[in-house]
Amino acid sequence: MKNSKNYQFLLNDLTYLKGVGNKTRDLLKKKQINTIFDLLWRLPRSYTDRTQKKKISELQIGTETTINVIVKKYNFPRIRNLPNKVTCEDDTGQIDCVFFNSKEGYIRKILPINQKVTISGKVKYFKTKYQIINPSYISEDSNFIQKIHLKYNLTEGISEKVYNKIINQILLNLPEIPEWLDDKLLNKFDNLSWRQSIILLHDPNNIKNFNKNFYQRLAFDEILASFLISSEIRKKIKKIKKKNKIFKELNSKKIIKNLDFNLTNDQKESLNQINQDLSSKEKMFRLLQGDVGSGKTIVSLLAAANAVESGYQVAIMAPTEILANQHYQLGKKIFKRLIDIDILSSKAPVSKKKNVIEKIQNNKTKIIFGTHALFQKKINYNNLGFIVIDEQHKFGVKQRKALSDKGGKNCDILLMSATPIPRTLIMSIYGDMDVSIIKEKPLNRKEVLTYSKPINKINEIIKFVEKEIKNDNQIFWVCPLIEESKKIDHESAVKKYKELIKLFPNNVAIIHSGIDKEEKQKILKDFLNKKYRILVSTTIIEVGIDFPNANIIIIENANKFGLSQLHQLRGRVGRGNKKSYCILLFKSNLSVNARKRINILKSTTDGFKIADADMKLRGFGDILGFKQSGIKNFKLADPVQNEDLFILAEKEIARIEKDEKNIDKYRTLLKLYDQVDIINDIS
Ligand code: ADP
Ligand code: MG
Repeated sequence: MKNSKNYQFLLNDLTYLKGVGNKTRDLLKKKQINTIFDLLWRLPRSYTDRTQKKKISELQIGTETTINVIVKKYNFPRIRNLPNKVTCEDDTGQIDCVFFNSKEGYIRKILPINQKVTISGKVKYFKTKYQIINPSYISEDSNFIQKIHLKYNLTEGISEKVYNKIINQILLNLPEIPEWLDDKLLNKFDNLSWRQSIILLHDPNNIKNFNKNFYQRLAFDEILASFLISSEIRKKIKKIKKKNKIFKELNSKKIIKNLDFNLTNDQKESLNQINQDLSSKEKMFRLLQGDVGSGKTIVSLLAAANAVESGYQVAIMAPTEILANQHYQLGKKIFKRLIDIDILSSKAPVSKKKNVIEKIQNNKTKIIFGTHALFQKKINYNNLGFIVIDEQHKFGVKQRKALSDKGGKNCDILLMSATPIPRTLIMSIYGDMDVSIIKEKPLNRKEVLTYSKPINKINEIIKFVEKEIKNDNQIFWVCPLIEESKKIDHESAVKKYKELIKLFPNNVAIIHSGIDKEEKQKILKDFLNKKYRILVSTTIIEVGIDFPNANIIIIENANKFGLSQLHQLRGRVGRGNKKSYCILLFKSNLSVNARKRINILKSTTDGFKIADADMKLRGFGDILGFKQSGIKNFKLADPVQNEDLFILAEKEIARIEKDEKNIDKYRTLLKLYDQVDIINDIS
């Protein structure tokens, strides 16, 4: 292997290394380790020190020891279950090497009579003699053994010896890479270069030293790379020039005046930001982030009215038909005769659909509501200028990029999401977009009162429900997901349904994932129209649906849910002006963590605070909707442990955007951290 001074060495295929053939390469590939660089993050978890050499007379029973001896005598009993033995000696005594399961020929080869060898393993004592059973290392070259041997979480099929050999080889050939960190920052990490940091990272004395300068530096590099990519994508999107939209907010102002509520300050501020984007020459690529019930829809509809006023069509896409219809109904209410709107529903008769598609084509329809069906090939917009996408927190960077291309360069894009993101992750997940945040809840909103009750008090709950039904209220009754199994999942809901229907005849409906889509939509609609009082469901009550008359949500086995999920569920109620309740039912003995979760939930309704707390309790991988968000798993950086580094990186990005003409200095960083592909994709 050539000694490589350049970072390219790190991007080489694994077979570039001595001792790595196709077989080892394929085993590692299965673990997503494709390049030498990827191997750097496989860290030792412990080590055995084999540097200390002892004489036989000095041996200590039970310790890993290395000795230099001469092979003296074989004893191959050739009887089943009896081990092969090799007696060795030095000038102070004798020791037996004992082999279970090793063949005679092999033993003769590694331990030839009268040969000087180095042996390492755990020393035992049997009858009158020291022995080492199945020695860990035997070699004629003592240098090979007398060192520190690192232990890794091994990939199946690759031995520790091979692993150590590979990693040592890499560390020996690690290139010195031109520094990408700014002097001031580098100083924070005690001026350790990337190369020095990697070497320290693999130093056995540093195992689990997460708070040391080298570890922090490397974690920071990783965060910086991720943020920098987002920042680049954002800049590239901003370079796309569009025709600015010209409007005087005639209709939107009229509509605002006629609303039966006042917009909150955050709603006004967000609307302003969106309006500015619409009227600018840069393409809008904005996220409107706001907790459940914060009133995002009206903001998007008002912006849509402005886009229409400037001569464009608007498409408003929701994840489900019922949600699309809910938005459409709100649209009908506020736009009245001001703006022609329509809905493209898959359930509508073919002739009706054809008619809608035609009206889109002739520019008769100005605002069109629907699901992803809005982007079928057969639909040709006459003059699409604004796309609103609701509740698509599951879209990753690449999908969003595809979206931003949709509708051509004059088309502005607004995404809306009610999934609060922990502060440390906003940049990693949405750094490619501009973000508007609605934190304030509408004024008339009652706080949802949150209670926890042991399940054996169910009778009290039933009485409470009876009373609330008499007061014309409605109730969601959520049954938990049991062990990820959809079938059992239904059963728990069905069982509850059967119990409740006896108590409240004709007043209970049920939905779960086993019920087909159309039936489900119908049940939801009936519930909305107060045909039933209680809706039993699994967790599928859809995001975003507004049931203003439902004021109680009862969640069984609430400890099975994460905090963010409980918060989302709680957000189903408290949307009208009635006093609302969230009742968490538990089995009586709660874990410490479950108790913590209830207390957090009782103490705040701020989704962002809850998301942060959730991440701290559970680690960031498990947070609702998170796995699908397309975010890369960090190798070292941890959004909980390294909050300070995330904030530091955010500041550094702002500085780079302001001070540096280009990002040439960071090319190597981006190449190494394997994200440069996305950047190239964008242009
Ligand atoms: P989300 O942000 O979760 O999508 P919605 O847009 O569905 O929330 O709004 C929830 C409810 O609040 C709707 O019934 C909506 O009409 C109402 N609403 C929106 N803004 C206000 C406001 N400023 N004051 C009172 N009610 C509002
Ligand atoms: Mg919504």
